[in-house]
Amino acid sequence: MAGLIAAVPEFPLSHGGRKIPAIGMGTASSPPAEKQPFLEAIECGYRHFDTASLYRSEQPLGEAITEALSLGLIKSRDELFITSKLWCTEAHPHLVLPSLQKTLSNLKLEYLDLYLVHWPMSVTPGKHAYPPKQEDIMKLDYKGVWASMEECHKLGLAKSIGVSNFTCKKLADLLLVATIPPSVNQVEMSPVWQQKKLRDYCKAENILLEAFSPLGAHGSPWGKKNVVESKVIEEIAEARGKTIAQVCLRWIYEQGVVVVVKSFNKERMKENLNIFDWALSEEELKKIAEDIPQGRIFPGESICSETGLFKSINDLWDGEI
Ligand code: NAP
Repeated sequence: MAGLIAAVPEFPLSHGGRKIPAIGMGTASSPPAEKQPFLEAIECGYRHFDTASLYRSEQPLGEAITEALSLGLIKSRDELFITSKLWCTEAHPHLVLPSLQKTLSNLKLEYLDLYLVHWPMSVTPGKHAYPPKQEDIMKLDYKGVWASMEECHKLGLAKSIGVSNFTCKKLADLLLVATIPPSVNQVEMSPVWQQKKLRDYCKAENILLEAFSPLGAHGSPWGKKNVVESKVIEEIAEARGKTIAQVCLRWIYEQGVVVVVKSFNKERMKENLNIFDWALSEEELKKIAEDIPQGRIFPGESICSETGLFKSINDLWDGEI
């Protein structure tokens, strides 16, 4: 471990002039997390947290924030950037505001910095099975749900609003009905799923891309090892005296993309923050862009069926597979 950690840079968000720290702490885990890793993350210097009602991490994160304030680790809640997400069972126009209010109550906060529509689909209210049953999956009411998201923003409860798991086509559909365009699209992105087309589209539309599962979620029930076992990344890490995780996270940052990475281990939390005082070379960037076989960690088969909303993964991802 190197000594001092360089300051975390921020990216500007469209609409409202706010900024988001370039790296955030992921909070999804199985079983759901307790307060301690989040408190340790604040101690290590994390100021950006990515939670969701689905992860059941809102409550422990809220407890960690309250304790961090009472310990003086932070002076004010405003020093933090907190994202949460609207789950599909609540992705119905009349359920958006109550769902955000429940999230805020779980977190013991008065506002979120960013509220995301978790998936581009809805599920019958109350049907909480994960993954959702085919018969419960239905088309997202883009216009109605987004209008409710905009209302949350206007009420000051969500400083920015955005989406997650949206393709270029689904973003284009949303932009047709949005008064306030989404500030962020949070999607899977890592050296093994580089999202070139989506990156270009989001840049052109001024939507900030955020990468989840940057390490392939290895070690998690939903993850794979192909990111951390990539020979290309390993060779670069060895040559540069960095870890594989640091090369992956640095690469994402250099694409102008925010990254959320989960670690509940204090040393790895610090390691992951320690990526802002060096840069990949042109040659290394070229190798990562050209020499790593591409494939999604989460193709989303369980969401697709011939008789369902998404007939195939090609349909779900609008050909971006
Ligand atoms: P990830 O961050 O790619 O990987 C997490 C795994 O990597 C954990 O097992 C962690 O173990 C390990 N790890 C972390 N740092 C490491 C390091 N320096 N060296 C070696 N191993 C390391 O996967 P993720 O949790 O799926 O993604 C991050 C966050 O994105 C989630 O927590 C969640 O907040 C968000 N997310 C969003 C969606 C969505 O649909 N919007 C989907 C998935 C995830 P330790 O804890 O033991 O260090």
